[in-house]
Amino acid sequence: MPEDAHRSGVVALVGRPNAGKSTLLNRVLGEKLAITSPRPQTTRNRIVGIHTRPDMQVVLLDTPGIHEPGTPLNRAMVRLARTAVTEADAACWVFDAERAARQHARGKPILHPGIEAIARLLDEAGVPSVVAANKIDLVKKPLLLPIIDALSKRLPASPVIPISALAGDGVDALLAAWRERLPEGPPLYPADHLTTQSERFVVAELIREKIFRLTRQEVPYATAVVIERFEEEPLPGEPAGEGGEARGRVVIFARILVERPSQKGIVIGKGGRMLKRIGTEARREIMALLGTRVHLDLHVSVKPRWSSDPRMLRELGIEEG
Ligand code: GDP
Ligand code: MG
Repeated sequence: MPEDAHRSGVVALVGRPNAGKSTLLNRVLGEKLAITSPRPQTTRNRIVGIHTRPDMQVVLLDTPGIHEPGTPLNRAMVRLARTAVTEADAACWVFDAERAARQHARGKPILHPGIEAIARLLDEAGVPSVVAANKIDLVKKPLLLPIIDALSKRLPASPVIPISALAGDGVDALLAAWRERLPEGPPLYPADHLTTQSERFVVAELIREKIFRLTRQEVPYATAVVIERFEEEPLPGEPAGEGGEARGRVVIFARILVERPSQKGIVIGKGGRMLKRIGTEARREIMALLGTRVHLDLHVSVKPRWSSDPRMLRELGIEEG
């Protein structure tokens, strides 16, 4: 294959929750699509991002964090991660080097069982892989080297590339390593597509992120956002169907599902203040994303145990099939 041939394919981002997969996805895409959170495990659905440049197009899957299956929600998440890897052309293991350095300093082996579980998933996936040793902005070099060494020995066919998804260091080298592992071929999507996810989905994720960030209290991961209405109104006084690029106002009705009345209280807040803040901050980002004016209406409902109800998970697109 000539060095400058166009390449395209799918790269699945895998790793433990909180390793920085969503941050890396956002860094590569240069826009905010996946939600990031200082708390683990907020990415439940598979988010597809598309990075296009002259010599390649990478379609990115942001998989749920791999961890011990427990509840139906957890089992569904692990299954989605596995499926994502086998469907991809290559896998990228996003590895939290800061966490590993901290644990190693306390005497824990670098390749402990939690790490081994992911290494095994890559062994068995049957696709080439790359390891992104992330958060190097937080790790001193002498502490980083034994980690890179241990990973390189465990996965001899996979390059280990030190990066900081947050600061951007090493990301160009990582993209080059992805490119080497993708098949030759034309772009799979038009160059201006950033994601194959619908705007609805991204809007729901943005609202969910605001809930996690703003309710410092333990509103658990069992919070879902359902977009009940997503409609575009023509601008008042402007003829519709002119083919102009100006979009009218987008009207969005979203329902926030929680499992307990106490959680509903937290999300709504005193005098409705928390919900108002969630709405204001989400709306600002949705307007930037859609490039239109936005009317956002948020409602909160209690649905006991929705996250262990397989039918509910299917409806929300979390469980497949
Ligand atoms: P995910 O669960 O793997 O998707 O992880 P996120 O992308 O949501 O990141 C989890 C946390 O780690 C967030 O607070 C990020 O800001 C932080 N983080 C991710 N990458 C880096 C990095 O390169 N350096 C630093 N200092 N923090 C990072
Ligand atoms: Mg994530």
